[in-house]
Amino acid sequence: MKYVLIRDDDTCARTPPECLERLYRPYLEKGLPVNLSVIPNVRTDVKAESGELEGYLTAAMEKRAKPGAGNLPITENRSLIDYLADNPGYHALHHGYEHQRFEFDLDSRVEAMRRLDEGAEILADAGLSSPETFVAPQDKISAESYRELAERFRVISTGWFEWRRLPRSWRPAYVWTTKIRRRPHWNMGHVDLLSHPGCLLSYNRDYEKMLETVKSAVASQEVTVLVTHWWEYFINGKADDAFISILHQVAEFLHESPDISVISFKEISSR
Ligand SMILES: [Zn+2]
Repeated sequence: MKYVLIRDDDTCARTPPECLERLYRPYLEKGLPVNLSVIPNVRTDVKAESGELEGYLTAAMEKRAKPGAGNLPITENRSLIDYLADNPGYHALHHGYEHQRFEFDLDSRVEAMRRLDEGAEILADAGLSSPETFVAPQDKISAESYRELAERFRVISTGWFEWRRLPRSWRPAYVWTTKIRRRPHWNMGHVDLLSHPGCLLSYNRDYEKMLETVKSAVASQEVTVLVTHWWEYFINGKADDAFISILHQVAEFLHESPDISVISFKEISSR
């Protein structure tokens, strides 16, 4: 049996529930769980490397949005919260704090604790019962943050792991499992550390090849985390029908393959 986890990143106070509904109704209807990396308290003026506002801030907009003022907790988006509560096929993951660049690449464990405490409180206020999986913005986590995350979460999901960023005492387990035994995922005590094979479902990829790439990634390992970003399907408020159709073809493929089981991160953390 192969296991697949769908991870959609950057759900935040600026996410219209209609976007998630359009993307994931076929998944929910087929009983395929969808894991959403939720930003607890998004900053509304964060810019991408291009210098423009991040796509998750503007995807809901018909026109280019102006920078917002400060932060917007997820609790501000009532229709989204209600929508998630009505659809138990969604599972929330804890995605950073305000989604500043490299915000968990921190030297200060106290600051990591503060960001995690505040984020957890907001997610709880939104009724998103304490996620056991953490997803770091931009895949950067410092040793101090890793130590704190291990106290609070059962699973850390990231693109890759950097030896020099890991706490020293974690490095032997990492080297043994990923370098010597060549496994993509490893664990440190009770914490599972899952990597993913890049964002295979992305508007930067070749649409013609995307489905095949997903199929071969799933075939190549026992557990695959498939990462995508809801806002990439709705740049500046315009739905990308071709891209959405590929996401729906992936749902068909996963559903129709008898040797593939689509699971939530909760199923990993509570096993
Ligand atoms: Zn993100």
